[in-house]
Formats: sequence, structure tokens, C-alpha cells
Amino acid sequence: MDDAVGLYGEYLRAFVKRTPACANCPVACGKVVEVDSGEVKVEYEDIALLGSNCLINDVMKVARSLKLVNELGLDAISTGNVVAFAMELKELGLLKDVPSFGDDEGQRELIKKIAYREGIGDLLAEGVARVTKKIGSRAEEIAMHVKGMELPGYEPRASWGMALAYATSDRGGCHQRAWTTKAEIEGPLERFSTEGIAKFVKEVQDERAAAFSLIV
Ligand code: SF4
Repeated sequence: MDDAVGLYGEYLRAFVKRTPACANCPVACGKVVEVDSGEVKVEYEDIALLGSNCLINDVMKVARSLKLVNELGLDAISTGNVVAFAMELKELGLLKDVPSFGDDEGQRELIKKIAYREGIGDLLAEGVARVTKKIGSRAEEIAMHVKGMELPGYEPRASWGMALAYATSDRGGCHQRAWTTKAEIEGPLERFSTEGIAKFVKEVQDERAAAFSLIV
């Protein structure tokens, strides 16, 4: 993106109404903002997928789209992915009747069409993997999913461990099965190296499987 200032935390801070957190958590990763006569909690993944992934560079525009996504019962990660995928297919001349990158109003219109399966939304509601099968091989080259699940906001080119985490996750491109980004930035893993990644990913996946089985 040429200009991402509108997605920075410093910019978001001006609009924050409340900062709720899970019990005893000092991080409080979500920020509640007011938009369209209501409130919505904005987090990292929402901004990554509905924002920069679609070249929408204003966090309050992202908040409007996120509120709609929540109200329609859609997932912000997969929805942001499939909308951006449609925008890229349009650039390649492979899809019509979808918005261009950066068009937040068009994004919201498309989100509604996906939810109600109207027009092109009927196809896009199937998700990136199934859309790819219908469109063909050029779409395959740009389709961002693993095992049919669209990727979250951790870019494997900047966090190599996430490539292995997505590829080997039981349910595909999920950031909840193993997350290597912090370990790559702060240690013990080394950034832009494959050293130790396989063991780390395997151990975290095992630990998460145990934690989820215990409903932790
Ligand atoms: S999701 Fe995690 S970081 Fe965010 S408030 Fe809950 S415990 Fe804290």
C-alpha cells in the first residue's frame, strides 16, 4: 500500500470508545469504535484482511465493513480474502461485477451479495478454493488458501514459519493451530531461516490440540 497511515494504531486511537479484554489480560487486543450508530470491536485480523488486503487504508472504513460482516454472521478473515481475491480476478480480467481494490463501498455491497448469495455473490460465497475450481488455472496461481481455508493476516513471506504452520494444519490456513511469528521476531527462532521451524510448529500444534481438547 502506498499510504497505510489510516490503519495505524495511532490513528485508530482517536476513535476508540472502549478497550475490552479477556479476563486478566493486560494486552486488550480489540478496540471498540462507534460506527453507523452502533459499536464494533476492531482487531488485527479484521484490519489485515478487510483493510490492507483489499487496499482500504482507513480503519474506520474497515470498521464499517466489519460491523456488516459481524451482523451478517460471516467470518472477517475468509470474507476479506474472498473479496480481495475477487478484486484481483477483476484486475486480471477474469471476473466482472465486483469492486476494485480500495473501494470500500463496493466492498460492503459485495459482502451483502455474498451473504444473500445474490448475483456474483452466489459464486463467491463458496470461498476461494471452490471459486478457483470454477474459474480455472490462472485463478489457481493467485488463490490464497490452504486445504480450502483462506489465509489469515500473517504473511509467510515475512514469517516463514507460518508457511509450514498453514501447510500442515489439520484444517488448512489457520493461525490458531501454530503461530510462529512472535518466536521469529523475539526468538527462539531466527527470522528468514528454516532452522528449528519444523520442531517448533509440531510442538505448538500438539500443545494446541491438547489445549483445545481440554476446552481451554
Ligand atoms: S484475545 Fe488474547 S490478547 Fe486479546 S484480549 Fe483476549 S487474551 Fe488478551
